[in-house]
Amino acid sequence: MSPRTIASVHVAHQQTEGGGFVVRRPFPSGGLPNLDPLLLLDELGPIEYGPGEAIGAPDHPHRGMETVTYLLDGEGAHADSAGNAGTLKPGDVQWMTAGAGVVHREMPSKRIQAEGGRNHGFQIWVNLPRAHKMTQPRYQEISATSVPVVRTGDAEGRILAGDALGARAVIETFVPILIHHWTLEPGAQVELPTPEDHTVAAYVFEGAANVADGRVGRGELAVTAPGSSVTMGSEGGAQLLLLGGQPLKEPIAWQGPFVMNTREELAQAFADFRAGRMGRIPPEIIRA
Ligand code: MN
Repeated sequence: MSPRTIASVHVAHQQTEGGGFVVRRPFPSGGLPNLDPLLLLDELGPIEYGPGEAIGAPDHPHRGMETVTYLLDGEGAHADSAGNAGTLKPGDVQWMTAGAGVVHREMPSKRIQAEGGRNHGFQIWVNLPRAHKMTQPRYQEISATSVPVVRTGDAEGRILAGDALGARAVIETFVPILIHHWTLEPGAQVELPTPEDHTVAAYVFEGAANVADGRVGRGELAVTAPGSSVTMGSEGGAQLLLLGGQPLKEPIAWQGPFVMNTREELAQAFADFRAGRMGRIPPEIIRA
């Protein structure tokens, strides 16, 4: 195997999103416009809400991309214009293919809004290839217990997308996508095979890890150069997301919640949304 080396390291900047909650965002940023085929990574929290303090993202549309929500702590309620509604618990994954267009809301649950509590999680935006941008919207909801878990030495990986060490994620994707949550105990050392041409990056959100040939601290994203494997280890223990996939290498026309290939398609997305062609959330399904 030819182990990957680090090509660049990006420190997450903090930014306000939705109704006013703060996120850590390693990309997009000035130094890293995307991580083809991934468009965005937000770490939500960790934050400790008091009663009545929790805020989320009220009704908004998406087209041409997918949103992946992965919760570590807290409880999220969602509802959308296709009539889906549900509650996300720690360890659950919600993979929403916006495709041609949905309107959805992503809020802390009624219980968290009323009582407060700790909230921590991630949202990842996955780009759709040109041929599938206008696909029918779809949800894949994977409960925590359905996420494959692999153990090797002092490391444990939860395989949200892609595969590792013989385990394959339940989620179906249009192009190969890699999203793993790794917990490295002190002294852990892992080497994972990775397809040579795939984008592979590591975002550390607890402790510090040795990824490829460098040390990566909390809130840092290390992007690796091409190679057939990636190494991960930690002296004091760490948690990280390993992220990437097969690059689309297509033009990106992106504004707000819409990600298309051309300016014209982007203008069409705004026009369709304004005309109500992405639907609205049926009031009767908003129960959480
Ligand atoms: Mn959204």
